[in-house]
Amino acid sequence: MIGIVVVSHSFSLARAAVELATEMLHDQQVRIEIAAGLDATTLGTDAVAVAQAIAAADSGDGVLVLMDLGSAVLSAELALDLLAAPHRVRLCGAAIVEGLITASVCASGGAGLDEVASEAENALLGKRTQLRSSPTDSGEAGEPVGGGEPASEGGGGASDDLEAAVAVFTVENEHGLHARPAARLVTELRGCRAKVRLRNLTTGTGPVSAASLSRVAALGALAGHRLEVSATGLDAQAAVARVIGLAARRFDEIAEPEMSVSASGPTGPFPASPGIGIGPAWPLVSSEFDIPQQPTGTLDDEWARFAQALATVQTEITAASRRAGSASGIFEAHLLLLEDEELLDTVRREIDTGTSAAAAWAGALDAAAAEVQQLSDDYQRTRAADLRAVRDQVLGSLLGHVRETVSSVGVVIARDLTPAQVADLDPASVIGIILAQGSSTSHSVILARASGIPAVVGAGSWVLEVVAGTTVALDGGTGRLVVAPDGSTLAEFETLAAEQRARLRADAAAANQPATTLDGVEVHVAANIASVAEAVAAKVSGADLAGLVRTEFLFLGRDHAPDIDEQEHAYLGIAGALEGRRIVLRTLDVGGDKPLPYVPQRAEANPFLGVRGIRLTLERPQLLRDQLTAIGRVAADNPVSVLLPMVTDLTELQAVRKLLADTLPQAANLEVGIMVEVPATAAKTAAFADHVDFFSIGTNDLTQYALAAERGNDAVAALADPLDPGVLRLIDMVCRGAGNARVAVCGEVAADPAAVPILLGLGVTELSVAPPSIPTIKAAIRQLDLSVCIRLATHALQCGTAAEVRRALSNADAHVG
Ligand code: PEP
Ligand code: MG
Repeated sequence: MIGIVVVSHSFSLARAAVELATEMLHDQQVRIEIAAGLDATTLGTDAVAVAQAIAAADSGDGVLVLMDLGSAVLSAELALDLLAAPHRVRLCGAAIVEGLITASVCASGGAGLDEVASEAENALLGKRTQLRSSPTDSGEAGEPVGGGEPASEGGGGASDDLEAAVAVFTVENEHGLHARPAARLVTELRGCRAKVRLRNLTTGTGPVSAASLSRVAALGALAGHRLEVSATGLDAQAAVARVIGLAARRFDEIAEPEMSVSASGPTGPFPASPGIGIGPAWPLVSSEFDIPQQPTGTLDDEWARFAQALATVQTEITAASRRAGSASGIFEAHLLLLEDEELLDTVRREIDTGTSAAAAWAGALDAAAAEVQQLSDDYQRTRAADLRAVRDQVLGSLLGHVRETVSSVGVVIARDLTPAQVADLDPASVIGIILAQGSSTSHSVILARASGIPAVVGAGSWVLEVVAGTTVALDGGTGRLVVAPDGSTLAEFETLAAEQRARLRADAAAANQPATTLDGVEVHVAANIASVAEAVAAKVSGADLAGLVRTEFLFLGRDHAPDIDEQEHAYLGIAGALEGRRIVLRTLDVGGDKPLPYVPQRAEANPFLGVRGIRLTLERPQLLRDQLTAIGRVAADNPVSVLLPMVTDLTELQAVRKLLADTLPQAANLEVGIMVEVPATAAKTAAFADHVDFFSIGTNDLTQYALAAERGNDAVAALADPLDPGVLRLIDMVCRGAGNARVAVCGEVAADPAAVPILLGLGVTELSVAPPSIPTIKAAIRQLDLSVCIRLATHALQCGTAAEVRRALSNADAHVG
């Protein structure tokens, strides 16, 4: 017997139709599957669900698919491409209720697919015939699309008391005049006294009544089609004008985000730090110093002034580093520069020959920056920016320059900002950041996110031309940026901002509650932290645990490693602040790009591919032994897990296990997990599964390694999207290979509410994010239905690009039409 699939935007509608149809059947039941709604209450259709329903309905004799309108048809068509095995499938144009009843009855009698399809398609004949003979027939009710009713021409044939009007417009909606814009049109004309018709001039379809949703949707008006709107009767001209106005507004459909108002290139701006920022532009120009060549006093005075300036800047940078919390390591290089013997010797020599301290310092730093800049290596270029940043900071102090700050509320616009500059920004007055360059995983942006300042990056150099004081509006969650927005755009941004504020308040109020999906699955939302202060913030923000404690904060910015007691004290502080919640302590993740002065390493051409993370600490087992000892002490009285960074090979894990057994025989129960940051590790997850308690996917590194796009390099920022289907497939591999081990995600993508459904759908059960993001992520989880997430994730894995995945996500909750 053939099977039947009902595809509808509404689950309740489909279920009611099936109930009605099965009522008509007697003994013989027919297999009817439903693929309707995104969940029990959310309207939408999903091609993956349709494909699954087809597979489930087919007992070998074929499947008839009945659809309601718009995207239901598109999803059914797409489903045919997604079917894993061949099936005989017929997409049927019948009306869903009448068609389903007829098809069910016919199929239950044993008819084949062709016969059932043809019966279903004729299911409306009876009703049509009956209505045609009805005295109330308006002459239009049964008229098929394309029936040839002539459109009224401007004034032609109109009687004296009738107005007539006609106009032509082009459909600009991306997906044409599908159900949602069609519904908007019908609503717009409700109550209108004129008779309004539409004709699709491109296809020759129509005219049809613009008051009929099904007729308008059936016009098949796609993007770029030219449509004629005509009206007769009272207010005809006004009616046509309304339709033209509506068409110009794309039938009030929300347009794709405007990427910019100027020629910034096809790639930017990129979303970097979520939130809405509206306010006057505050372009930050790089400081120009008037550098004196002669010293102001004796040589010793000059040197003393210089030493004082260095000390001041050291204090400033240390303070910025403290404010930076988990990103404090960013300032490591800056502090080291202030102590760089070679640089200081050069400056001293210059001062001794009668050059001013400012000129000597500027000369030394410029020479060093020029040297590394020439190497055209990304890492080296980053260091050149650091050199320039510290140069300016010391010069500012020496010359008494007040550093340019945002002194009133505004949106900072800059070519790029150093981490120190971002750490200096006061979130109370800086309501947004627009960077001409930069990437969303740069250190500056991580700091902006930690401070809750909305930001877009990679906007293009045109933003540097924006005149100070011009109103700008940015959406750091989407990358939308508008300079000098008009009234309605401004109102749109303000509404969004107000909504976000209200949402944040509500999310914060519920932050201490568990994050449970609509279908009852609890997801742990953890905190990424790197200090006791952040542990306190994590607790306040409702963290279920600390999913990633970056222990680097203890090791950077000093000339010797912290001893066991110091480490124990720091970890105990974190455990205490989290009041009994589990803390996941990651062993030292430095090396390569983050060198430690007391761990000499060979220079590496590709530090990110070099001796970092577990590779380094296994080379220096005493470092690891001490850290594990400290962790073991804390674990005696607190729930603690150990997390190993950059694991690539099972032997690394086994070596740490052995070290643990030798060092801490009493801590046999200590939970051990590995970071999944290397694509090969993701691909062979199953090989690790029996040896770990959990996996934590570090999508920041996994993305850069999978896509060969360095995380700090703005030139490849567009490529480095963790929602790239290639990266999602790696996450999928981890979830499938993990066996009984838990799977967490602790990279930045876990804090992207748009990505959460996909991560959960792939099988991730813990998300670890910066403390300020916890309430939002918990709230996002509470809106989700895991079964829908699974469908979305399955669909995302089939996509070809990250943009396609993001489009599917943004359409998922409003997929009508
Ligand atoms: C990651 O790589 O995603 C991660 C969380 O580690 P880090 O950002 O500290 O390298
Ligand atoms: Mg990492």
